[in-house]
Amino acid sequence: MKEVKGFTTRLVHAERRQKPANGAIHYPTDHSVLFAYDTADELIDVFQGRSSQHAYARQSSPSISTLQNTITYLEKAHASLLFSSGMAALTTLMLALLKAGDHVIFSRFIFGNTNSFVGTLTNFGIEVSLVDVTNIDEIKLAIKPNTRLLFSESIANPMTQICDFSQVGDLCKEHNIVFVVDNTMTPSYLLDASQYPIDLLVTSLTKYFGGHANALGGVVVDMGRYNWQNYPNILSSYQTSEVKDWAITQIKKKGLRDMGACISSDSVHLLSVGSETMALRLERACDNALTIAKFLSNHVHIKQVFYPGLESHPQHQLALQQFKHAGAILSFAPYDGIDCRKLIDAFELILCSTHLGDNRTLAIPVAQTIYYEMGIEKRSAMGISENMIRLSVGIENVEDLLADLDSALSKL
Ligand SMILES: *Cc1c(COP(=O)(O)O)cnc(C)c1O
Repeated sequence: MKEVKGFTTRLVHAERRQKPANGAIHYPTDHSVLFAYDTADELIDVFQGRSSQHAYARQSSPSISTLQNTITYLEKAHASLLFSSGMAALTTLMLALLKAGDHVIFSRFIFGNTNSFVGTLTNFGIEVSLVDVTNIDEIKLAIKPNTRLLFSESIANPMTQICDFSQVGDLCKEHNIVFVVDNTMTPSYLLDASQYPIDLLVTSLTKYFGGHANALGGVVVDMGRYNWQNYPNILSSYQTSEVKDWAITQIKKKGLRDMGACISSDSVHLLSVGSETMALRLERACDNALTIAKFLSNHVHIKQVFYPGLESHPQHQLALQQFKHAGAILSFAPYDGIDCRKLIDAFELILCSTHLGDNRTLAIPVAQTIYYEMGIEKRSAMGISENMIRLSVGIENVEDLLADLDSALSKL
């Protein structure tokens, strides 16, 4: 078939190109946990990596391989590995590639649960530094001889800080550090990761990829850039194949197989079908987010709005350069003295809920929920005010969203 360029064309035909039986456009959702063979040698070949067939669904299955192939193709990457959730992908990757005595640099602006996992890593003897990822000098100062990975989100939430992939990636390359990017906020439609010096991508498919809040999933993508011969923690038993495969094999065997955070084939099906409209949903949601950000920044009750699509955002230019649109997450703080809970309670359409990347617009009081465990001191150091609200903007008609915001604000 002729190579096509358009993102959605590539996406909606990706499964069919893998030739499911009977001309089906969706790969059948297989429920077999085990896979049996006619001869012992065939099973031995699967175990010893000479065959790409399947042995046991905790490691792989035809459904899982199909979505992995689609994601690898979309990201123009080397290989992908699916997990039961975004957190499973992220934590399994770290546990499979790190050992006690290693050092990891994390962006200070990360998802609350990732921040909590950083504490777990330190309990296992892994040294961690948290840095302002928008400040290259601070990153340089944090680098040590035993630094193995640098982890950053593409656009952080709730404050929407942006990682400069070229700048940070080049620095990592110089120091032989694996650059890991969580691109949950900017999945493949918004970010062409193959254009940047990014080594591994981690994405929560639960969010924009699936888009319908009906299935959890996560993926680790090896972009095929890092020379794993330079990484000291690859076990000799996984150094048998092509060098490009070393890390993904170790993550699969030591991580997915041994720790078991595998995705179900039903989730794979829901996520693949959901993903077909990713570009359409994101176009609409990002458009809505920009309109809402402008509305809020002109409102008398609103003190601050954080959205990279606004010219007032300190990294507005970088946002335009790196991403197709500035995302659909924004945060805002009403003036002091206004209780954000009252405002949220006055919404009739916008849902009060955690999660992001859904088709529906969601609002959450930040300090009291997703950043509650952190405590007020850390929050204020991060610039998170006690009455900040995060919006995950959905695909509703924007007039209805503006009307809901306007009516709630007018009740204050
Ligand atoms: C939600 C989220 C995760 C975790 O994904 P789950 O699928 O919910 O486990 C990781 N990183 C970011 C940036 C997220 O928003």
